Amino acid sequence: MTDIRRVVVTGLDTVELRTEPRADLAPDEVRARTVTIGVCGSDTHALHGRHPLIPIPYYPGHEVTGVVTEIGSDVTSVVVGERVTVEPTLPCWACKQCRRGEENLCENLQFFGCGYPQGGMADEFVVRADRLHPIPDGMDDVTASLIEPLSTPVHAGRIAGPLTDQAVVIMGCGTIGLLMLAVARYEGARRIVMTDPLASKRDIAVRHGADAVVDAAQADLVGQVRVALGESADVVFDCVAIQATIVAAIHLASKGGTVAIVGVPSADVVIPTITVQDNQIRIQGCATYLPQDYAKSIEMLLAGAVRATDFVTAEFPLTQAREAFAASSSGQEIKVLIRP
Ligand SMILES: [Zn+2]
Ligand SMILES: [Zn+2]
Repeated sequence: MTDIRRVVVTGLDTVELRTEPRADLAPDEVRARTVTIGVCGSDTHALHGRHPLIPIPYYPGHEVTGVVTEIGSDVTSVVVGERVTVEPTLPCWACKQCRRGEENLCENLQFFGCGYPQGGMADEFVVRADRLHPIPDGMDDVTASLIEPLSTPVHAGRIAGPLTDQAVVIMGCGTIGLLMLAVARYEGARRIVMTDPLASKRDIAVRHGADAVVDAAQADLVGQVRVALGESADVVFDCVAIQATIVAAIHLASKGGTVAIVGVPSADVVIPTITVQDNQIRIQGCATYLPQDYAKSIEMLLAGAVRATDFVTAEFPLTQAREAFAASSSGQEIKVLIRP
C-alpha cells in the first residue's frame, strides 16, 4: 500500500475523503494502522465554523487508537504490533510549562488532529512516539476509544477537586457531561445534579447515575438545581460554556466554590463579577490532560466505571465520514466512532 485515505475538512460543512501518499517517518516517530477514531464535539464545531481555535481546512482525528506498524530509528518505547492510543497534545518540551510538567499548557502547543497537518482520521497515522500510551491487553478496541475522551473530565475533576464527598453540579448531559458524571461518581462525590434543556439527554443522565436532573431551559434554573442538590454546589462543571450556563454556574457555586469550564466555548461571555468577587468563586479553566489523567482514565475503564456500550452508539467506515459527522452533530448519538 503506497497511498492512504485521509478525511479532510476542506471547507465549511465540507468533508472529503482524499487519497494521499504515506507520510515519511522521522527517527522519533511511529507509524500505526488506525483502528478507531472518535468524532468529537470539537470536530463537528470546527466543521460548522464554530470552533474558536481550529482553522479550516483541517485534518481531524485526535481521539485515535491504532496498532504500531513501523517505528523510527530512535524509538524504544513501543514495539511493532503494540496497540496504542494517542495523547494528541504535541508539546515543545522547552517552554517553562513543559519544563515543570504542565505540557498541556505548552506555550508552543500543537495538537494532533486539530489544526495540525496530521490527524488520525485516515487509514494510518504518524505521530511522535512520546505521544503514545499502550492499551492494556484486557481492554477491547471500543473501550480503548474512550481513553482520550474520558481523560478530559478526569483532568477537570483533578484540578477542580478533590471531589470526594462534594456537592457537584454538571451542566450539560452530552458526551463530556456524562463522562464528567462518571468521574464525579468514581471520585466519591456526595450528590450530583445535572442540567440539560433536552429531556432525552436528562433521561440518559439519570440512567448513568445522576442523583437528579433539572431542565436547563426553565426560568428558575438556579433555584431548582439548588433544591435538587439540597445545598450550594462545591464544584460546578460547565460542559456547555455558553452565557446562560456560566452565569448559572457562578450563582450555583457555594461561597469559596469552584466553577470549572470544561466545554469548549464558541464565544466569550460576560460573567457576574460582583458575585465572583464577593463569594470568592474560583473560575477554573480546564485544558486537555496530562499522562497521569490518561492513567486514571485507563484505570476507570478497566474498573468498569464507564461502559463503552453506554457511550459508543454509532460506528461508520472511513468512506462514510460525512455521515459520521452528521450523526455526531445530530444530538441523537453519544459517541460516534469511525473504523477504517
Ligand atoms: Zn475530543
Ligand atoms: Zn512547551
